[in-house]
Amino acid sequence: SAGGEEQYDFIWKVVLVGDSGVGKTNLLSRFTRNEFNMESKSTIGVEFATRNIQIKGKTVRTQIWDTAGQERYRAITSVYYRGAVGALVVFDISKVSSFDNLDKWLGELNEHADPHCCIMIVGNKVDLKHLRAVSSEEGRSLAEKHNYSFIETSALDNTNVGEAFNNLLVDIFKLQV
Ligand code: GDP
Repeated sequence: SAGGEEQYDFIWKVVLVGDSGVGKTNLLSRFTRNEFNMESKSTIGVEFATRNIQIKGKTVRTQIWDTAGQERYRAITSVYYRGAVGALVVFDISKVSSFDNLDKWLGELNEHADPHCCIMIVGNKVDLKHLRAVSSEEGRSLAEKHNYSFIETSALDNTNVGEAFNNLLVDIFKLQV
């Protein structure tokens, strides 16, 4: 086709994981459509969006899955993780409980995802400087403990959103290609 959107060398599934409200849907919409929404979503179920990325001269079609309320719908858990080669595990730097719950999300990933799934811990909402409740060091040291990557982002002001996805895809590339 003329657009070339349909042509790719690899197609990879990446899942977004983390407590409700941490910003998963907005990280997805920022990365795939450069959109941000102040309101919380009302959708229930699983949604995904795709974006083609160039890595080392190859076109990688990334299919990014968002839980959209899946936190409460355990029946779809195994389908959600099936075939995922990467995961962004997201918390909100202004909400300690979302950071404490990372253990639960990482446990779920270990249980359901492929053992070679690349994991990146993402501290989102860094624009909320005055409300920060989890330090960068705490985030980084948790990631290092498990040998995962770490990045801080803001879907609102578009800090590091592209970097988060790109770094993860480069990690996946090293493992898969
Ligand atoms: P999800 O439940 O994890 O998918 O979270 P959403 O993407 O629906 O975001 C939950 C709320 O946090 C919404 O009101 C968003 O506008 C807001 N939000 C998401 N990302 C950011 C961010 O980077 N900074 C700020 N200040 N708010 C954000």
